[in-house]
Amino acid sequence: MDFIPALSQLSSPSAQRIALRISAPGERALKQGHPWVFDQSITEQSHEGLPGDLAVIFDDKRSFLAIGLYDPTSPIRVRILQATKPAPIDSTWYQEKIKTADAIRAPLKEQATNGYRLIHGENDGLPGLVIDRYAETLVVKLYTPAWVPHLNEILSALQQTQPFDHLILRLNRTLNKQAEYLYGLTDGLTLTAQTPESLILFKENGITFECDPIHGQKTGFFLDQRENRARVRSLSQGKSILNLFSYTGGFSLYAADGGAKEVVSVDVSLPAAQATLRNIEHNQNRPNVRNAIFETLDQDAFEALAQMKISNRLFDIVILDPPMFAQNQSQVEAALTAYRRLTHLGLDVLKRGGILVQASCSSRVSSVEFFDAIHRSARESGRPLQEIERTGHPLDHPIKYKEGAYLKCLFAAAP
Ligand code: SAH
Repeated sequence: MDFIPALSQLSSPSAQRIALRISAPGERALKQGHPWVFDQSITEQSHEGLPGDLAVIFDDKRSFLAIGLYDPTSPIRVRILQATKPAPIDSTWYQEKIKTADAIRAPLKEQATNGYRLIHGENDGLPGLVIDRYAETLVVKLYTPAWVPHLNEILSALQQTQPFDHLILRLNRTLNKQAEYLYGLTDGLTLTAQTPESLILFKENGITFECDPIHGQKTGFFLDQRENRARVRSLSQGKSILNLFSYTGGFSLYAADGGAKEVVSVDVSLPAAQATLRNIEHNQNRPNVRNAIFETLDQDAFEALAQMKISNRLFDIVILDPPMFAQNQSQVEAALTAYRRLTHLGLDVLKRGGILVQASCSSRVSSVEFFDAIHRSARESGRPLQEIERTGHPLDHPIKYKEGAYLKCLFAAAP
C-alpha cells in the first residue's frame, strides 16, 4: 500500500519525554481511569514540548502513573495512552489497541454491516482519534495536533491489522486552523496514493447507503444511530413515518425496509436531502423500499412541523434526531428548552397511540435531564408518554469515561 509523499515530511515526536507531576484531584481522576490531564492540574513540568511529544506523569514517590500525548494548544494538556504500568508506545502497541477494538465489533460483520466506527477515541484507549470504516475505505479523524507526529505509526499499525483500499484524513474544526502543526495536511486529504470515488457505498444491516467521507458531516455518516434505526425498522410495518433531521435518510430507509407505507424526511441541508433520494435509489432491490412512498424535504424542521400541524397532517411514528444543541455547560438550559419544544411540536403531528422517537447527542445534557424534559413537555401537551425503551450507545461506540456517554434516545407511545 502506497501513501502520499507528504507523510514523510511530518515531524517526529521529541525523543525526550516530558516529566509531569499533577494535583491530587488530577491524580485521583487518572486512577479512576479518566483519559485526560487538564493544564490546571499540572503542578510540575520538566520542560515545554510540542504537540505529540510523550509526557510521563509521576506521583509524589516518583512512581509511574501514566503516559500520554502532550498538547500545549489545548486545556486538555495530556491525553492518556497508557496508565498504571509503563509500555513502549510503538507500532505493536497501536496494533494491539486496534485488534482489541476490532474484536468488539466482530458481531457487526455478521449483520451485513460494513460501515462502523473502528476506533472511538478515548473509549477505545486512543483519545482524540476516531477511525471509521466504510466498506474498503478508512477515515481517520484527528481532534488534536498531538496525533500528527504519530500518524505514520497509526497508518502502519492499520496496514498490519486492517485490510483497506483507501484512507482519508479528516480534521476537526479547531485542528484545521492549526496550520503550523499540520505540515501541509488538510481536512479531507486522501492519504493513500489513489483517491476513492467520492461517494462510497457501504451496508448497514443489509441496507445500502452512500457516504461522502471527504465532504460529509462527521466522517460522512451518523454511524452511532444504527441500532436505533434497526428498532425503527421493527416498528414500521404499515406505518406512516415522519423523520426530522433526517440527514441522508438513515432512519427513513430502515423505516421503509420495515414495511412503512409512507416516509417523509426533513433536513435543512439540500445536499443531505439529495443524498436521501440517492439512498432510496440504491435500495430499489428491496421490495419494501420499492413499495414505500417517499417525500423528501429540504426545510427547517421546526417550520416543517408547524406547517404540518396547520394542515393537520398526522403520522404513526415521529423521529426527532437533531444536531448537538449544547456545545458547553452554559448552553444546557437552552438545549433542554429546545428539546421540550421539539417534543411538543412532534406530538402535534403524532397520531393518538403513535410512537415518538427522540434522541440527543449532546454529551453536556445528561440522560436524566433529557428524558425528564421530554416527559415534562408531553405532560404539558396533555399526552403523558408511556415509555417503550430508553436506549444508549451501540456496540461500536463503547463508553469508557463519563464524558464518553453522549447518545440517548427515547421510544415512547403517546395517547
Ligand atoms: N438522523 C440522522 C442524523 C441527524 S444529524 C441520521 O440518522 O443519519 C442532524 C441533522 O440535522 C443534520 O443533517 C443537519 O443538516 C440537520 N439540521 C440541523 N439543523 C436543522 C434544522 N433546523 N432543521 C432541519 N434539519 C436540521
